[in-house]
Amino acid sequence: MVDTPTLLVMKFGGTNMQGAAAIRHSASLVARSLNAEVRVVVVVSAMSGVTNLLLGVAEAGEKGDIAGANDMIAALRTRHFTAAQELGAAPDSATVRELRELLETLRQAVYGVYLLRELTARSRDLIVAFGERLSAPLMSLALEASGHRPHHLTGGQAGIVTDAHFGSARPLSSTAGRIRDRLGGLLDAGLTPVIAGFMGETEKGATTTLGRGGTDYSATIVGAALHASEVWAWKDVDGVMSADPRAVQGAQNIAQLSYGEVMELAYFGAKVLHPLAVTPLQDAGIPLRVKSAADPDFPGTLVTASPDTDSAHPVKAVTAIRGVSIINVSGAGFLGVPDVVADLFAALARENITLLMVSQSSSMSNVSLAILSSDEERTLEALGRPMGGRPMQLDVQREVAVLAIVGAGMRGTKGVSAKLFGALAGDDINILMISQGSSELNISVAIEGRDVDGATRTVHTAFGLDAAVVAS
Ligand code: ASP
Ligand code: MG
Repeated sequence: MVDTPTLLVMKFGGTNMQGAAAIRHSASLVARSLNAEVRVVVVVSAMSGVTNLLLGVAEAGEKGDIAGANDMIAALRTRHFTAAQELGAAPDSATVRELRELLETLRQAVYGVYLLRELTARSRDLIVAFGERLSAPLMSLALEASGHRPHHLTGGQAGIVTDAHFGSARPLSSTAGRIRDRLGGLLDAGLTPVIAGFMGETEKGATTTLGRGGTDYSATIVGAALHASEVWAWKDVDGVMSADPRAVQGAQNIAQLSYGEVMELAYFGAKVLHPLAVTPLQDAGIPLRVKSAADPDFPGTLVTASPDTDSAHPVKAVTAIRGVSIINVSGAGFLGVPDVVADLFAALARENITLLMVSQSSSMSNVSLAILSSDEERTLEALGRPMGGRPMQLDVQREVAVLAIVGAGMRGTKGVSAKLFGALAGDDINILMISQGSSELNISVAIEGRDVDGATRTVHTAFGLDAAVVAS
């Protein structure tokens, strides 16, 4: 293993990779830290918009629209070749050849989907992971141009081995050792590894992805395996914000958060990090910094086990998830029958459905579930069968949003929920569901989707988050 005092893992998001200029700037952020005492492992996202485009390519293939798929691949080719050229690659260079080969393999994979008219989760993962495989060589070019010695790898080559849950794969325990094996030698040789984020592979070598936004997770998996000093996630925002700045003008940077708080924020819709990203860092206590590429000297957000807390601000952030549906499950004989409840949750687990909120009437005659509307069809199907041997009645309410307030300081602080409900009532906002986990890290409410922006602003102000200096 590496015997240097400091190892940093730096992750760059899609916006930080969106074109030659952005990639050059990202490489300069790596170069600022790299020196004889500091080694850096780089983990990159696909160029912005590319993952969505690849999903479109895969779907076009499945629908039989091969011309449409090929047009999109041509657009990808132009975008990556242009960036490579602007980063100094000659037309006959190894990088251009590599990009050409990757794009050809992608074209063949999509052609396979087209012939079969079948898009499995497995083929979708193979196809979408090309975004990161195509961007990693571009980062290598930029690092080379600034005098460094990069070496790029796919997630699998870097040692990330996962289960076969295509679309939301999880690393296996063999990953850490494998990463140390694969990267230790490169680091010892003075090379800077550049890893294609978002992806891993199964034991049998099939490409998997870690879920949308998964490059954060790749970076923390690698950081934990290598016992990195810190993981830095470079973004196009000033770190983690107290609310979505597009909805709330007064939203501001949060200086410090705990692993638990950041997980709640990510789970409840803050797009800043993959919800599982901090999990690999927790045991080892490795700090995560979320930093702004536009303002690299700004400290951003520091995520650790025990951040400084500010008792004046028990709530640190307000988040919202839009596009939510509430499914109300009821049925004759539901009343308190454990079998019904057990079957219900088993059915949801089988379908891998994310439950945003659950609440149960105290008479136990019905259960309400808040889920993403994109999961609605699968949920209704999963719950469409009898539960505990009894047929269930399912009622759906659409166009709902879940608003959550998050902060470890809420624990033991009185009056937080009163303030939340008071603020919402003052704005004439109707609450459809309520939940507070016993961890007291968050309180969430389901409200009408049309109320969400106004509610977020009101609640943000009510908790003194506008303009105030949050927990520093
Ligand atoms: N490119 C992938 C996505 O857009 C992974 C990532 O950016 O973290 O979801
Ligand atoms: Mg992205």
